[in-house]
Amino acid sequence: MNLLEMNHIQKKFDELMVLKDISFHVKEGEILSIIGPSGSGKSTLLRCATMLETIDGGEIIYLNEKAAYAQDGTVVYAKGEKEKQIRSYFGLVFQNFNLFPHYSVLKNLMDAPICVQKRDKKEVQKQAMSLLAQMGLEDKASAYPCQLSGGQQQRVAIARALALNPKILFFDEPTSALDPELTGEVLRVIRSLADRHMTMVIVTHEMDFAKEISDRIMFMDQGNVIVEGTPQEVFDSDNERMRGFLGKLN
Ligand code: ADP
Ligand code: MG
Repeated sequence: MNLLEMNHIQKKFDELMVLKDISFHVKEGEILSIIGPSGSGKSTLLRCATMLETIDGGEIIYLNEKAAYAQDGTVVYAKGEKEKQIRSYFGLVFQNFNLFPHYSVLKNLMDAPICVQKRDKKEVQKQAMSLLAQMGLEDKASAYPCQLSGGQQQRVAIARALALNPKILFFDEPTSALDPELTGEVLRVIRSLADRHMTMVIVTHEMDFAKEISDRIMFMDQGNVIVEGTPQEVFDSDNERMRGFLGKLN
């Protein structure tokens, strides 16, 4: 089953067409990585998929339910309970962690499940502690974000996203704000989620990681999908722009 379908997505900022006509889908348990040069529209695409950004064309479908579609230049969203439900399907992990600085680690994890999802506090706390243990952070529950390394903060951000029990997790360059020695611990956590068959869409510059973890990879350039396929198909592609992109990284 497709958890997510993005059909003919267009997005512009003023006159600048940032997403030109992007279509893709993500099946349950699948890992899709999105690669491409800076400015190609990767973050905008994730922000559209997670309804942080409006769309100017196309439609977004979660589990066969229309989450948003553009009509006559305006975006129409699912409403009421349906919208709430659709928003509960996904979580987003940002490049810069975006933790609440004035909340403890535990409160960062527990806030939305209690305040937004109206879940039982005890049950939420139990799950939060278990997620922190899974991230190797059980001793950091009462710490504040500023007391943690970047790698630890990002692992808290991943735990916070998981605390909402999403069906699909989006990552926007989860390691690009980290020193190389801290990147590994975050990639390990994402790998462990892959082992548990978490459905994920990952924007990344870590090419070896993308190659290893992804079922499919999409290479974007200037608001278009240029190459799409298995890691092997994408990395072996003789597309000139793809080759140029890989060449610049080496
Ligand atoms: P990537 O994540 O691939 O680096 P982005 O999605 O961040 O690319 O940006 C794609 C293009 O859209 C860039 O040209 C960027 O300057 C532009 N852009 C992104 N967000 C905005 C915004 N809020 N307002 C205007 N232009 C934007
Ligand atoms: Mg980006």
